[in-house]
Amino acid sequence: MKTPLPPCGTGCGAQLELFTPPAAPAAPAAAVEFDWEAYDFVVVGDSGGKDSGALLHTVCEQADKAGALHKVRVLHCDLGRTPKGHLIEWPGALDVARAHAAQYDVPFAVRRSKRWASLWDRIQAHGNWPGHFARFCTSDTKTAVGRDYVDEVGAEMLLGRPPRAGYAMGMRAEESAARAKQPMIEQHRMSGKGTLRVVTTWLPIHQLTTAQVWQIHRDHGIPHHWAYDRNMRRLSCRACPLAKTADLVQSAQINPGIFDEYAEAEADMGKPFKKSVTLKEIIERARS
Ligand code: SF4
Repeated sequence: MKTPLPPCGTGCGAQLELFTPPAAPAAPAAAVEFDWEAYDFVVVGDSGGKDSGALLHTVCEQADKAGALHKVRVLHCDLGRTPKGHLIEWPGALDVARAHAAQYDVPFAVRRSKRWASLWDRIQAHGNWPGHFARFCTSDTKTAVGRDYVDEVGAEMLLGRPPRAGYAMGMRAEESAARAKQPMIEQHRMSGKGTLRVVTTWLPIHQLTTAQVWQIHRDHGIPHHWAYDRNMRRLSCRACPLAKTADLVQSAQINPGIFDEYAEAEADMGKPFKKSVTLKEIIERARS
């Protein structure tokens, strides 16, 4: 069975805040075996976040044991800038992703949507903010970028057939009830008859807790983004409509410039950033 589109191709997990985490999560399933022989290469989506760091470590450790480290490629999706020049992502996220790849000595690529110069442009074209039922942000600026990168790498390999690619993502069961149900290995809908590729999504750290993710960082000296040291729990877009309000207030304190610009766009569009709260209110809370 083909999967629905993954929430965020390179691991942003802000949308998970919409779901109430299970009070007592069931014991996570054991990690599944990944058949390295079956794939030409494996793309690891790295947002520069903590889950990406643990993800790349886990993938490279398994690849090394299987003699397949040469198959690993790291992809960071660049979400571009606002018209006033503010990065959509956290400044430095790209550098952390690059450092992750350097630590394991695997190829690193940065790619951006071929259609949209930035997520800002995509939002403006849509005329409204992304939402749980309007995930054009991830599908157009992350998943489509991942698909194009798979095609790019496949073409470079001159296989004479559609490439067979693994696509590793940092989703974890602990994050939400919805993610807990997600299969750890499944064919992605960008695959199949009439498509140029066969892509299997793989969630290598699905069973890890947040504490285990940080333990992996400590044990292996994996770099992490400074925003975590400023009490941010996630490293997604600096202003994500699917993030919890408390996290947005925290982000607005650290990133006043981009929040002011987003608030201007909110006023121009006449659409609230979140159903429950406007950016104007978030900024007021951040400044109070
Ligand atoms: S706005 Fe950014 S962080 Fe939020 S769901 Fe979309 S791509 Fe992910």
